[in-house]
Amino acid sequence: MIVFDLSCEHGHRFEGWFGSSDDFAGQQARGLMSCPFCGSAAVSKAPMAPAVPAKGNATRNDSGLGAAAQVQALANRPMPPEVGEALARLAKAQKKALENSTWVGEKFAEQSRAMHYGEVDEKPIHGQASTEEAKGLIDEGIAIAPLPFPVAEPDKLN
Ligand SMILES: [Zn+2]
Repeated sequence: MIVFDLSCEHGHRFEGWFGSSDDFAGQQARGLMSCPFCGSAAVSKAPMAPAVPAKGNATRNDSGLGAAAQVQALANRPMPPEVGEALARLAKAQKKALENSTWVGEKFAEQSRAMHYGEVDEKPIHGQASTEEAKGLIDEGIAIAPLPFPVAEPDKLN
């Protein structure tokens, strides 16, 4: 069985169950279908409801679903493959970037500052910093960047 969203010439929408796509076409050709609301035989497949309500069109409700149901349907869609791939690439890039980097944990701000002022040799590090610490580093012109993904502390991994 296959279900189609149908609409009549007056815009009534309803579902029709058919044995197959051909079955639908045959019944349509012979005028065997009729609208349950007005009896019109001018029945055709309803256009698919848009996945995202168009701008300026948000109050129109073509699909018979409420606005909340439309949002739900959208949220339940699987992640588009390109988003998944982009995230995977980003995660891989971070992993690679951190391979040669040393975890300094809460000493991140202190270490960054020490390297910036030439007190210790520069090397790639990553660690934790509070928002205040991060702001302070940026204010001092020290180049830091947030990691796109959280990193587990190495000594907490096992
Ligand atoms: Zn009708």
